[in-house]
Amino acid sequence: MPSKGGLVIQPDWLISESSEEPKQNWGVRVCDGTIHTVASNEELETKFPEDEILLAEGKVLMPGFVNGHVHMYGVLAHGIPLESAPSDFWSFLEKFWWPLVEDRIDHEMISAATNWLCSEMLLTGTTTFCDILEAPQSLPESLLIEKEIIENRGLRALLSFEANERSGHEVAQKGIDENIRLIETNTAEDLVAGFMSVHTTFTCSDDFLRRAFELAEENNVLFHAHCNEGVYEGEWCEKTYGHRTFEHYEKLGINGSRFLASQCVHLSEKEIELISSAGTRCVHMPLSNCEVGGGIAPIPELLEQDVSISLGSDGYINDMFEVMRGAFLIHKARLQDPGTMKADQVFEMATLQGAKTLGLENVGALRSGFAADLQLVDANFPTPSSKENLIEQVILHRSGHHVDSVMVAGEWKLKNGEVLGVDLEGQRQTLHRQARRLWGEDG
Ligand SMILES: [Zn+2]
Repeated sequence: MPSKGGLVIQPDWLISESSEEPKQNWGVRVCDGTIHTVASNEELETKFPEDEILLAEGKVLMPGFVNGHVHMYGVLAHGIPLESAPSDFWSFLEKFWWPLVEDRIDHEMISAATNWLCSEMLLTGTTTFCDILEAPQSLPESLLIEKEIIENRGLRALLSFEANERSGHEVAQKGIDENIRLIETNTAEDLVAGFMSVHTTFTCSDDFLRRAFELAEENNVLFHAHCNEGVYEGEWCEKTYGHRTFEHYEKLGINGSRFLASQCVHLSEKEIELISSAGTRCVHMPLSNCEVGGGIAPIPELLEQDVSISLGSDGYINDMFEVMRGAFLIHKARLQDPGTMKADQVFEMATLQGAKTLGLENVGALRSGFAADLQLVDANFPTPSSKENLIEQVILHRSGHHVDSVMVAGEWKLKNGEVLGVDLEGQRQTLHRQARRLWGEDG
């Protein structure tokens, strides 16, 4: 018996997941927020004659992207006037990012950035993201503000506050409390959930790291930290503790499958081995690593060891097509090997593997029973597409500008290039106002 009330989407091409060959004239049936059936367009029409049909001619239907690491508030800092550019990673944090950005962020700025980022995500095909907030002056309740906005907008997200001791014990504790406050609201049905996050080994004492990890264990959520983004942290750990960052986490009993380690740019062979043997999850941010002059992460080496990796924007260029392009290209240059980082590997890190890395089940692929988080992308490529080249065509020739429609949990959020139910121009003006406040140019 065919069930009623579904929506059949009939595109030119379907990429259900990177491990499956793309299929021409195949589509999906969406019902109750999930993918009900994946079949040829013809079969879908015959099987479900009473369904609403969306003819998506000239489009590729594919999963919505999973952005594994964002700092939404970061958008407010784009273009901030600076007297001089930071000269290294430490001065980037100490002279710029901490005093001029993070320490000035307040609730109004967070609201404007969250609203804008939700629109930016939808416009560029992202349906799920993982955000890390660091804004000591915004405590408490900043995560609850973010959660309310994102739930109203109907995107899927994981949120956390990057707790650390750089501003003293009281603020550090407030950061932990903020995470727990959000985690306590977690339910299986909600699109938005909280997890535990700390900054780094050099801004957190061992006791603090252990306590945060224990709370993550107690609440059965991921524990996140930024790791070895520049050369600084590994060297600092060697100087301070006599071993490198992941050896330190291992010693603290933190390394393991609950550990979500973002950046992982500078890793010793021993650290790669520790990450792999412990089942630590990683997030790779090729473009922001370039931005801060951080280096190029050994991602092909980690994938070789079966490490689960998500792709992220770090809040820099949030268009996941651009992030995929970065991941597709920079490792070829570093290893002088055009065969490394295949298109389907990169696509998988931006979708299914990205979701798994964040601990999300039934997200990131167009499979029966999976969440109906999907996008329709312009299929008019400059050269003919085939099942052999389609994923590479998407990575090389598409960007957010080619995203036509986006659905999250079965609801259209972007249709024909327009974000639904939102005054985008109004959001942009609000963001400008809040950016000027941050820059000290009150408007
Ligand atoms: Zn980050």
